[in-house]
Amino acid sequence: MQIRNPRTGQYDFELSVDNKEQIQHNIATLRENQIAWNSAGLPHRIATLQSWAAQIKAHQEDIIQQLSLDTGRKSIARTELGALLGLIQGWSFRAPQLYQTAPRRPSSTNPTIFVEQQWIPYSVVGVISPWNFPLLLAVIDSIPALLAGSAVILKPSEVTPRFIDPLEASLQAVPELARVFQLARGGAETGKAIVDTADAICFTGSVPTGRKIAAAAAARFIPAFLELGGKDPAIVLQDADLEISTDAILRSCVGATGQACQSLERIYVDEKIYPVFMDMLVEKAKSVTLTIDPDQGQMGPIIFEQQAEKIQTQIDEAISAGAQLHHGGKVEQIGGGYWCLPTVLTNVDHQMQVMTEETFGPVIPVMTFSTEEEAVALANDSIYGLSASVFSTNIDHAIAIAQQLEAGAISINDGSLTNRVFDAEKNSFKQSGINGSRMGDAGFLRFFRKKALLIQEGKPATMASFEEGAS
Ligand code: NAD
Repeated sequence: MQIRNPRTGQYDFELSVDNKEQIQHNIATLRENQIAWNSAGLPHRIATLQSWAAQIKAHQEDIIQQLSLDTGRKSIARTELGALLGLIQGWSFRAPQLYQTAPRRPSSTNPTIFVEQQWIPYSVVGVISPWNFPLLLAVIDSIPALLAGSAVILKPSEVTPRFIDPLEASLQAVPELARVFQLARGGAETGKAIVDTADAICFTGSVPTGRKIAAAAAARFIPAFLELGGKDPAIVLQDADLEISTDAILRSCVGATGQACQSLERIYVDEKIYPVFMDMLVEKAKSVTLTIDPDQGQMGPIIFEQQAEKIQTQIDEAISAGAQLHHGGKVEQIGGGYWCLPTVLTNVDHQMQVMTEETFGPVIPVMTFSTEEEAVALANDSIYGLSASVFSTNIDHAIAIAQQLEAGAISINDGSLTNRVFDAEKNSFKQSGINGSRMGDAGFLRFFRKKALLIQEGKPATMASFEEGAS
């Protein structure tokens, strides 16, 4: 596969793709190696991941450099690497607290029968990840799965695969981990081979791909943990602090060029504060700079070429249907990369794709509401239910509004807090995903099946108990 550079537009990297037979062979090997990995115990697995953390640090400049080429972003690449190390440390601390198997106990219904529960990890977990945070979203599920005692085959997105080589080098330096953690290269076909062979799937990506994976996994009766797209709303109530709201909304909408699942993508503002809110938002949006010079600026290029086209189409469609443009509005090609300034739109409605379809770009469409009931109805008028925000100086009131929103995580007086807080459990609502949360305790516990050992210490019931008429 020839891979495009998001800054230059050049196809300057070649990815050699793992075919179906290779994936099947690799998963068979992982399945064998997982047995020793699981029986080695959690403390040993923690120690092995700590050795990997040391190797990641030794390779960190290579990983960051390649990740920067993948994404066109320097500081976020560094943040992603820090998040990887943080995930290893965080789960190494939390997993032993969670892995508490209860001692053998008599059953509540029959005291001569004793119950013991075993925790059995899925043998091979397949992780399939997207291009927007290529490293973070590749490891976020892999690390707790490895600590649970599963082997992992990870396929990062084919759009951003340069970081795989240096990450693999760090892994090869810890041979024991490399035996149970393999990196796969390729696109949809490689992903399909993983879904057709692994024992559980963690998928982060779009709704259409998630739907295919859910169907394939259901046909095999294996679990698929799906983290999909969003169209996150923000509600700005009349008593909101406008400095805080506009800062948070701007950052959440256009940070990482809007290429984040939990970006705010629809803003609903109380009509009484709307004029002041808009003045402040537009002024702040105008101050955002692009990183065309890679050594300065705030917003990087649009990573994926097809996404650039989609963003422009949504903006154009909205403007031709009557939306008013306050800033930005054009995806421009500069030096082969695609760039877009924060694009602020008003006079939008739910007939427009920009208010209904995931944009995944730096677009801020704003609508007004006159009652809070209307605001909640507008926020819930979506096929997605990933996350949302509520802004109010009255926290209790904000919580009461949050309660009514159909989404898995609600940030109060900020945006997209799920990218900074990993210990609060959250499920995706509607088409934004399904199955156990990757955040909070479930992020580890979901990799186990519970096996019940039922130990008879008395006499087993005999056939006499089936005697008709016996009491
Ligand atoms: P995508 O669905 O196109 O691809 C994601 C991954 O799936 C890639 O690795 C791809 O190669 C693989 N793939 C494609 N077809 C497949 C198939 N049939 N079987 C198995 N694997 C297959 O998504 P994308 O464009 O890379 O990512 C952007 C999407 O990801 C957005 O919708 C975004 O909202 C979503 N996302 C969600 C979260 C979350 O936590 N909910 C986080 C980040 C991104």
